[in-house]
Amino acid sequence: MTYVITQPCIDVKDKSCVDVCPVSCIYLEGDDVDRKLYIHPDECIECGACEPECPVSAIFHESAAPDEWHEFIELDARWCRGDDAEKNAVRARVNEIQPPA
Ligand code: SF4
Ligand code: SF4
Repeated sequence: MTYVITQPCIDVKDKSCVDVCPVSCIYLEGDDVDRKLYIHPDECIECGACEPECPVSAIFHESAAPDEWHEFIELDARWCRGDDAEKNAVRARVNEIQPPA
């Protein structure tokens, strides 16, 4: 099990969560290419420290993620475990879910 970053992070990305994660498992490659951050499911220790830090309530334990954002469990895992092509596929899906303004 893991925590997951859902839709409200898109285009917000203030990174408050990154500062409190004790195992540094919250990632993005660059503000120019990534519209949200991603939690690595194999590295997250489920401490919960990040969840209350998020100003837009984007972070949930995967067991508590709202139904409409369940896809982000898969997207965080695919982005974190995947190669460049997989990361780009996840970025494309994020753009479908929430088209750039
Ligand atoms: S604190 Fe919330 S909005 Fe900010 S980067 Fe983390 S998940 Fe995204
Ligand atoms: S639950 Fe803890 S370990 Fe997992 S991403 Fe949040 S701060 Fe990091």
